[in-house]
Amino acid sequence: PYDVLVVGGGPAGGAAAIYAARKGIRTGMVVDTFGGQVMDTLGIENVIGTPYIEGPQLMRQVEEHVNQYNVDVMKNQQATDIQKNEFVEVSLASGATLKAKSLIISTGARWRNINVPGEKEFKNKGIAYCPHCDGPLFAGKDIAVIGGGNSGIEAAIDLAGMGKHVYVLEFLPELKADKVLQDKLYSLPNVTVITNAATKSIEGTDSVESLVYEDVVTKEEHRLDVKGVFILIGLMPNTEWLPEMIDTTDRGEIIIDNHGMTNVPGIFAAGDCTNSAYKQIIISMGSGATAALGAFDYLIRQ
Ligand code: FAD
Repeated sequence: PYDVLVVGGGPAGGAAAIYAARKGIRTGMVVDTFGGQVMDTLGIENVIGTPYIEGPQLMRQVEEHVNQYNVDVMKNQQATDIQKNEFVEVSLASGATLKAKSLIISTGARWRNINVPGEKEFKNKGIAYCPHCDGPLFAGKDIAVIGGGNSGIEAAIDLAGMGKHVYVLEFLPELKADKVLQDKLYSLPNVTVITNAATKSIEGTDSVESLVYEDVVTKEEHRLDVKGVFILIGLMPNTEWLPEMIDTTDRGEIIIDNHGMTNVPGIFAAGDCTNSAYKQIIISMGSGATAALGAFDYLIRQ
């Protein structure tokens, strides 16, 4: 068996594998697509110490870094189930089973898409999902935020400090965010909230120039001239495949302690698939390191 088996090859999984291998213990890594969400990111400006890097380049470097150690990397493999007997056993879609003394789950998350024309075409060309990451790109510009829940309203408050005007589009008749956030939002002079708004398309030539929405009550269509559209309608953890023995929040995020351990001894988790407060590259890398050190501590006590 492996001493540590890491499932997932994003920033969290990469960091976990490097930290585990550096302890000289037998480390394996099961990865569907090496790189994770970062492969979809064009410019990254908040990896501390690296003022600018493109996502695929960063993850190539992480992969090279992993490969400098004795890590058994199994790519294009999907984990489908976990069992705990004497060892932790991970089933793969290929039919194989891997055994390990400890496991680190780092299968990340995915942003929900709105699935309207223009969303795919203008990804990284005006369409964004993360205000901490891409907010500064839209300084002084008009911006739309789709989604009136907590993440949408937090984004709108954040973006209102940088952008010229921020339009918040909510499909329902009212915002769903906490009242304290709504109060803050409504106190800002450069924000307009539009409820009953169903986004129909995002349009432009080289980059986003406007957004078309329908008022679901009057059925009238309206156009907003905006340079940026932030889509914040939910981040979904990739945890559907986990067995019930691993505790998650009602949103499916794996619950971990401050050593990265789940409720099941020997099973750890890191990154966007967990209940971490914020979902970012350096935070995922840090939690991957924590989970690997936590696993090592666990192993030396067995
Ligand atoms: P992920 O990156 O999601 O990686 C998950 C890994 O698990 C992948 O390798 C995947 O293939 C694998 N996997 C999933 N399920 C399975 C399975 N069943 N079996 C095997 N493998 C599996 N953050 C920043 O800090 N700065 C930015 O500028 C920034 N920009 C972003 C832009 C976009 C468009 C997006 C989508 C995100 C951005 N983020 C940014 C957020 C950042 O990408 C995430 O916080 C980070 O990638 C999370 O890392 P992770 O390792 O937890 O998960």
